[in-house]
Amino acid sequence: MKFRYLLSILLISACGGGGSSGVMDYDPASLSTSTNTNFPCFPNCPLPTAVQNDATIKLINEGFNQPKSNPDQWAIFSTDIEQYYVNREDLIQNLLNTTFGGYMNYNYMVFNEDGPDEINTPIMNRLIELKYNGWENGYSTEELRNVSSCLAGANPNGWEKDSEYEQHSTCMVWKSFLLYSHAANNPNYMPEDYEIEIQIVQHMQHEYFHHYQRAHALDRGLDYQTAPADDPNQSVNAPWWWIEGAAMSAEFWWIRSNWQNLNFLNKYNSQDINELITYQINGRNSSFWWFLQRIQSSGPYREHSGHINDELIDCSGWQLGPEHSDGYPEYGHNNNDCENQLAPFAPIHFMAHKSSWQIVLRDIPSKYYEYGFWGAVELYTGLNEEEFYLQFNETMRSTNWEDISMTYAPDGWNIPNESIDTHIDFYNIEYFNN
Ligand SMILES: [Zn+2]
Repeated sequence: MKFRYLLSILLISACGGGGSSGVMDYDPASLSTSTNTNFPCFPNCPLPTAVQNDATIKLINEGFNQPKSNPDQWAIFSTDIEQYYVNREDLIQNLLNTTFGGYMNYNYMVFNEDGPDEINTPIMNRLIELKYNGWENGYSTEELRNVSSCLAGANPNGWEKDSEYEQHSTCMVWKSFLLYSHAANNPNYMPEDYEIEIQIVQHMQHEYFHHYQRAHALDRGLDYQTAPADDPNQSVNAPWWWIEGAAMSAEFWWIRSNWQNLNFLNKYNSQDINELITYQINGRNSSFWWFLQRIQSSGPYREHSGHINDELIDCSGWQLGPEHSDGYPEYGHNNNDCENQLAPFAPIHFMAHKSSWQIVLRDIPSKYYEYGFWGAVELYTGLNEEEFYLQFNETMRSTNWEDISMTYAPDGWNIPNESIDTHIDFYNIEYFNN
């Protein structure tokens, strides 16, 4: 992929809070009413694993996991940032809220990484309010650089799962990224202005989608980083490849049907924009062929553009498995290894093929607080974790990549031609409210 992302969620010292949950005295029957015969898992559906606590009730009562039309969200900029960028953020975020639902407690912040402390005061003040990492003694610009991350989080009232529990997502971006996107860190990369702006839209869609994913995990937390060592199942435990894969699959699907509502893009040639979108969607929609090639051949690999890439590492024989369920890759997200190059792409399409895009992007999140990630997958696909991986690996080996056209994919695999807004009704998600 041309564009890379960073998801580094704040790692918190486990602080003992939540370690005392009495899992066994919970009555699963009280939550099992929703597993009816319509689920493909029937009659052997998974049991709920959620343990409701005061924090759950508080989050539900304030509507933390509910799509709202006017949510409490923050967009904060250093004082030197031109109004153009402030307006641009507002427009994009409002449009994201329209599609995916407005989820509260999202904080988007842009600071000038080279600026004097004074111009970054609004960001510093917000971080202190949130009791973000390092808030105790205030911040300097240098400290902002060190703690900046997207997506990260803050729990201003502490980590105890009590009735005061408050959860925020934070995305801190450097001004140079806002202005130049991925060219900010790569002098050899010289994108056109429209490409930079589309990349910012893409980045905002991606990070906000992570906030939406987190909102539905409620106080359980989305991934391994929120799982206490003594009770890993307290977390929803969504695998990193699903978290990233789901966010990425929605990027250009959303941009394709929404960019014309972003008026700052009007000044560009619409054909250029459409070509960029088509290129990206074609990349996703050749992912069956591409993935088969990557795991069946040792390279050099032929890209969908026709380019022969002899720099890609040999991923022949690679398999997806439970070792990829636990967390981000050992050597870091975005690293040059097969897990990074393959895991966040084809498996999400396979999951859509086994169910639907609405299930992958909406219904699984709606149920993973209650059942955990793999419980939700089993509910909607009938496959447990082991079976999912087994079927995925078998499917990727049952067709010879040289026997199919680049655009061939099993039913439901590709990004639908329909717009994401009509295909998936995010506003009517059956959020947990028991
Ligand atoms: Zn991400």
